[in-house]
Formats: sequence, C-alpha cells, structure tokens
Amino acid sequence: METLKGKTAVVTGSSRSIGRGIAERLAARGALVAVHYATNATAAQDVVEAIGKAGGRAFAFGTELGHEGDAERFWAEFDVQRRAFSDDGDTGVDILVNNAAVALRDHFQDATVADFDRMVAVNIRAPFFIVQHALDRLRDGGRVINISSAVTRLGLPEVIAYGATKGALDSFSRILAKELGSRGITVNVVAPGYVDTDSNADWLRHDKDAWEETAAKSVFGRVGEPEDIGDAVAFLASDAGRWITGQHIDASGGTRM
Ligand code: NDP
Repeated sequence: METLKGKTAVVTGSSRSIGRGIAERLAARGALVAVHYATNATAAQDVVEAIGKAGGRAFAFGTELGHEGDAERFWAEFDVQRRAFSDDGDTGVDILVNNAAVALRDHFQDATVADFDRMVAVNIRAPFFIVQHALDRLRDGGRVINISSAVTRLGLPEVIAYGATKGALDSFSRILAKELGSRGITVNVVAPGYVDTDSNADWLRHDKDAWEETAAKSVFGRVGEPEDIGDAVAFLASDAGRWITGQHIDASGGTRM
C-alpha cells in the first residue's frame, strides 16, 4: 500500500540498524527517503540500493551531528544531495524522523562530563535545531517523529545520562506538538525497547544468555527487530496517524509491563 506516495522523508542515522528499518518501511510505502549517516557512506549507499531494488526511491547524505553548526550543515548537505537526485527544485520535507543517537553506557558514579556533553549534543541538541532549521521546508500537514527509548520508563541505572537525554527529547516533543499543531504537523515520540542493532551487538547479539534474558523481558518473548520500529513510525507518518500528536508511543513489545 503506497500510503506515502508523493511524500519526502528524512531519517537521521538511517545507514544502519533501527534507522535503516524505518527508512525501508517508509520507502516501501512510497516515500522518497533521504538516508542520513554520520561517517559510514558505504552503509548508507547499501540502504539506498536495497530500497531501489525493492522498487523504492532514496538518496544518501552525510553530516556528523553533535558539533556546533551541525543543523545548518545537515540541511545544506540535504539540499545538495536532493538536487543531485532530481532537478525538480523541491527541497521540501513531509516526514522528519530524528533517530540518530549515541548511547554511552555509564553508571552514575562513572559518568563523565565528556560523555554527558556528547550525548546531549547528539541526542537532544541536534534534533532540536534540526527541526528549528526545517520550519520553512517542513510542509503543513507533515510529521515529526522522534525516536526516544523505553529507558525513560524502565529507569536503567547503567544508562542514566543517556536516559536523561531521552527524557529531554520526550519533553521537547510534547511542547513542539503544541507549537506546530496550527500547521497540521503532528509530533510524536516512538520509544523502542531492546532491539537487535549494532549499538547492542557487544553485549546482546553475541551473548546467548543475554539474548534469552532480554527476549524474556518482552511479553512476546523475543528481542525487537528494526522493522518493528519501522512499522510503528510508518503508521504515524501515514494519513491514518493524523489525529495523534504529542504522544509517547511505547514500541518495546511490552517490555517489563
Ligand atoms: P546504531 O548505533 O545501531 O546506529 C546509529 C545510526 O546513527 C547510524 O546510522 C549512524 O551513522 C548514526 N549516527 C550515530 N552517531 C551519529 C552522529 N553523531 N551524527 C550523525 N549520525 C550518527 O543505533 P540504534 O539503531 O541502536 O538506535 C537508533 C535509535 O533508537 C536511537 O535514537 C536510540 O537511542 C534508539 N533506541 C535504540 C534501542 C536499541 O535497542 N538499539 C533501544 C531504545 C532506543 P553511521 O552509520 O555513519 O555511523
């Protein structure tokens, strides 16, 4: 079902993992998808090719987030690659998914200012200013979908600073929903639980016991896949999601309910 035909979507951090799952799901529903990456251009190109093979449309663009002026550079690079993709002159955006984040694992007593500042810069400052710098290009009736985390509910001590940045993203999203409502733009949060991604590979993917313990935390008895999150985002992005805004959608497979 091509429910997103004619729409342009931008997904930050979609060269791998959950972002890739979101990009592929949006493209499968007909959106033109801008696949954003930090440094891994090859992985982003793989996503673009996979989308193309499946009959969708996508292009890649790279900008490392978390540095001064990143939002401006992000959109400048988007414009360059969007124009290279097609000379139709359209640099508007209908769906903006803020997915890229860094999750540095630290207990409270081990947390450092450097790690804290990095997570703040990538996980909340970058999405904040990416949206601010997109106000003119974001079309009325559009969507902003911010990828948070179930950690804001679960309260995991080993990711205390990361959890704090996601709490800030949740709060920002709720206020932004009020700010953009008059334009028919919805703003929502999707909060994954445990998902099999590169960021979890070291402690989850390669450890059978950790995998089984983690799977048992979901009422469905399995670890999440990027596509599980992609489908939740695709629903919110579609016209069927038009009356839902300012919401925090738990997409954790009922983790620790
Ligand atoms: P991964 O670490 O597996 O992938 C990260 C993606 O973001 C890559 O595309 C990477 O680009 C990009 N990225 C990373 N840092 C930057 C940066 N500084 N600037 C720009 N892009 C960057 O992430 P996940 O898929 O695990 O997580 C995706 C989202 O889901 C995050 O918001 C995370 O907090 C959230 N989440 C994840 C959970 C999980 O279990 N995995 C659970 C709950 C929430 P490149 O390829 O170039 O490196």
